[in-house]
Amino acid sequence: MPQDFLIIGGGVVGMAVAYGLARRGRSVTVLDGHDDSLRASRGNAGLVWVQGKGLAMPRYAELSLHSSMAWPEFAEELTKRTGIDLEYEHCGGVDLCFDAKEAQARQTEYRALYAATPSLTAVRWEYLDREALREQLPGLGERVHGGTFSPHDGQCNPLYLLRALYAACLTLGVDYHPATPVTGIEASTTGFTAHSPQGSFSAERVILAAGLGARTLAPPLGLSGQVHPVRGQVLVTERFPPSGRLPTPQLRQTASGGYLIGDVLEDAGYDTGVTLETIHRLGQRAVQIYPELAQARLVRSWGALRVMTPDGSPLYEASRSCPGAYNLSCHSGITLAAFHARELAEAIDTDRLATIHGDFSGARFDVQATG
Ligand SMILES: Cc1cc2nc3c(=O)[nH]c(=O)nc-3n(C[C@H](O)[C@H](O)[C@H](O)COP(=O)(O)OP(=O)(O)OC[C@H]3O[C@@H](n4cnc5c(N)ncnc54)[C@H](O)[C@@H]3O)c2cc1C
Repeated sequence: MPQDFLIIGGGVVGMAVAYGLARRGRSVTVLDGHDDSLRASRGNAGLVWVQGKGLAMPRYAELSLHSSMAWPEFAEELTKRTGIDLEYEHCGGVDLCFDAKEAQARQTEYRALYAATPSLTAVRWEYLDREALREQLPGLGERVHGGTFSPHDGQCNPLYLLRALYAACLTLGVDYHPATPVTGIEASTTGFTAHSPQGSFSAERVILAAGLGARTLAPPLGLSGQVHPVRGQVLVTERFPPSGRLPTPQLRQTASGGYLIGDVLEDAGYDTGVTLETIHRLGQRAVQIYPELAQARLVRSWGALRVMTPDGSPLYEASRSCPGAYNLSCHSGITLAAFHARELAEAIDTDRLATIHGDFSGARFDVQATG
């Protein structure tokens, strides 16, 4: 019997959707790349973040808010199934500003989005100056001007999220194949067959969740797969006692005590390396935020590539020329994981992706083949 679904890519997007489909009783096979393949899911900052999302596409802001609201239940459910604590906190967060001009521009953007979009008037946020912020961020440095606070933001351990998704998928019977890179996918009247050096795998429908791999796998199936790499670099300090400070995109203290620093977007092609110049810049910024970090030792740094679409919003596409083939690409897969595991999996399962989430198709990039 062929499986109901083949999912190509076992990052946080593929595994969240695999989990959602398996939860709905579907049979799912996941084919994943090698350990050294590009994996944003293993190099990200772990923020479950709403602020600033969808500034150019209010529907993306809606999805982010919706997913953030669904996260507490999602995290609890995964922990119940697997015993893995995701270190999730729905604590609120602060996006820092370093001068008055940045503070003004941020508030103008947020007002334009949140106040002017009826579905987003429930979004709560406020601008707090440095003194007011010191309550949430004790020890904040003099170089910080202020920041926007929102109670919808939060944080998790993204590696534990991924591990919990794998574990939950295994308990639900998902057939996961690591180190099985797909070299091509064939469509036939009965479904799809994916070929890899490890063999061929068939299913009625196929979902691409291959991160940057969508660029080559998607077009032959009539899907745009329009993504490009944007590098981030991340630093981690030695561990410190818990400070109770809220997370910020610039830096956050993890549950184990280290500060995770990194908020850069770099055009570096497929280079996942780190550079001394950026490490230096990130370190300086961290010390501006919390001057005491000048004494902190850095214990780790890494580079990772974001899966970026042309407008930064998610790409959820259903093929018109190969019905039953889908592509999912997004650059906030941690935030959106709760949505992916529920509504997105349901929309695909019931074959209503194009109807419900057509705004996110490749058609917005003039790729008329996808709905
Ligand atoms: C530095 C950085 C910080 C970030 N911070 C955040 C954050 O704080 N919050 C947030 O929400 N998001 C964040 N993100 C984004 C988030 O990490 C990504 O949106 C998410 O990980 C994308 O997941 P994915 O599964 O689509 O891609 P990936 O994690 O890249 O996974 C793709 C998978 O597909 C497999 N694959 C590729 N080609 C093939 C093939 N041919 N055959 C089989 N398998 C294949 C790969 O092996 C890989 O496992 C950040 C990203 C970066 C880089």
